[in-house]
Amino acid sequence: MDGNTAPREAGRDFIRDIVQADLDAKRHAMSVTRFPPEPNGYLHIGHAKSICLNFGIAEEFGGRCHLRFDDTNPVKEEQEYIDAIKRDVRWLGFGWGKNLFHASDYFEQLYSWAEELIRAGKAYIDDQSQDDMRAARGTLTEPGRNSPFRERAIAENLDLFRRMRAGEFPNGARVLRAKIDMSAGNINLRDPVLYRILHAPHPRTGTAWCIYPSYDFAHGQSDAIEGITHSLCTLEFEDHRPLYDWFLDNLPVPSRPRQYEFARLNIAGIVLSKRVLTELVRENHVSGWDDPRMPTLAGLRRRGVPPEAIRDFVKRIGVAKANSVVDVAMLDHSIREVLNKKALRRMAVLRPLKIVLENYPEGQVEELEAVNNPEDPSAGSRRIPFAREIFVEQEDFMENPPKKFFRLSPGNEVRLRYAYLITCREVVKNASGDVVELRCTYDPATRGGNAPDGRKVKATLHWVAAAQSLPAEVRIFEALGGKREGGGAETSVPSVEKVEARLEPSLADIAVGEAVQFERLGYFSRDSDSTPSRPVFNRTVGLRDVAKAQIA
Ligand code: ATP
Ligand code: MG
Repeated sequence: MDGNTAPREAGRDFIRDIVQADLDAKRHAMSVTRFPPEPNGYLHIGHAKSICLNFGIAEEFGGRCHLRFDDTNPVKEEQEYIDAIKRDVRWLGFGWGKNLFHASDYFEQLYSWAEELIRAGKAYIDDQSQDDMRAARGTLTEPGRNSPFRERAIAENLDLFRRMRAGEFPNGARVLRAKIDMSAGNINLRDPVLYRILHAPHPRTGTAWCIYPSYDFAHGQSDAIEGITHSLCTLEFEDHRPLYDWFLDNLPVPSRPRQYEFARLNIAGIVLSKRVLTELVRENHVSGWDDPRMPTLAGLRRRGVPPEAIRDFVKRIGVAKANSVVDVAMLDHSIREVLNKKALRRMAVLRPLKIVLENYPEGQVEELEAVNNPEDPSAGSRRIPFAREIFVEQEDFMENPPKKFFRLSPGNEVRLRYAYLITCREVVKNASGDVVELRCTYDPATRGGNAPDGRKVKATLHWVAAAQSLPAEVRIFEALGGKREGGGAETSVPSVEKVEARLEPSLADIAVGEAVQFERLGYFSRDSDSTPSRPVFNRTVGLRDVAKAQIA
């Protein structure tokens, strides 16, 4: 069970090895896994690791994977989260078919198993306050102390438990605890709580219950009821495994699942904690769970990240037993890999600088041919308008350029992609000295961007025709994980810059969520805030090497 041994076959890991060995040894007819989210928030990219592992195993080994909502805490759980979780799992490319379950489906069975433990003298009602219970729990180095209620008669325990269920007592008045061992080295075995009183309606069971099982009491038994063979969870649950096994050993469960732990996904500088993400949403630090700055699946989707990229990323990082932290650059790499193959290329200017081509006929507009995706010839080409007035990127011009600046500067010739070679003749400034316009000339013999005499220009710029372009808002998010690196407030959020951009006209037809590459700038995706007259685009990720792209 060592997750860090010799190289394996690609896509293999210690969990898949265990599943394979169990199937080979005919310990199970098929593998049955589950993804067990608590519906108390949206899924984040850490959950994607668990989803890809559990559903991936079902696909690869011809087994099945259940989606099970761990809905044992009605105070924090909502239908909105259940719906969002389903949407996100489907979006990632997985399905559960008929195998949709809820821990709450088993409340009656769990309750009767709890009574069974009481009857066997293995559980008791404790009337201590929460504080007293905590104080008596001991520490890692000191054993706990037995509760004064630990030796209650079975009949009294049963009576009190039934009255708890009937709603006779207020929240927190008493709990049901397993009677295991208050001096166990593993604190999870020091008489853990099985049931607590919670007068709160539940999204599925309504007001049928006012006592709810703990995670530990619900989880393994739910696995056993569903015939789960491999119950995969993150390392924090390693210390819970003896308790998981204790319940299964002491109850007449219909099957015997096994729990295996793997390292959770950590990304440097990115908060993957539902508690913190919930805070960001509640306190309006972000626009919602799908804010493109959020590491949630909904946020990544809105930013334009394709699900294939998340699956590719998860595959690359692999599954191991030792905790580690990965760099967000790995995720960006997977995003670019996928988008490079499928994103249409388009031209957009984020910070427009106007150019007037003095020798281009007034009123003339020509249509130039532009390739849709050099990586995919089947994507074909489109036509883009060219005219006397165009926009280029402000940062592609310098009045007094340093030596290695090959883009536009007075007297210098550059190529406009798919169009012509142009030369800057004059710089127009406003009263405060800012450059507001360039007067240039174009060489009519260079249509398509090639000079018949073979003369070379070092820079190729993107551009749009001024009057024909679409004004749009483009949102540029500080790199995910950027600001939070190196500490600071847990809840600090990366900023967003909104620019007034100009787009080539064909970008009017891009659907919300569709990815495009703005040439030389990066990958972008149309945001749902767009209106027919005003598109909004989000930058999904920049190009690999910005410096290189600028002189290319
Ligand atoms: P919390 O415990 O605060 O509710 P959680 O992220 O553990 O948050 P769950 O809904 O319990 O939320 O998680 C569902 C499943 O996803 C669990 O099996 C959990 O182990 C797994 N999971 C959660 N975070 C990660 C992560 N960063 N990497 C891999 N798996 C994760
Ligand atoms: Mg959890």
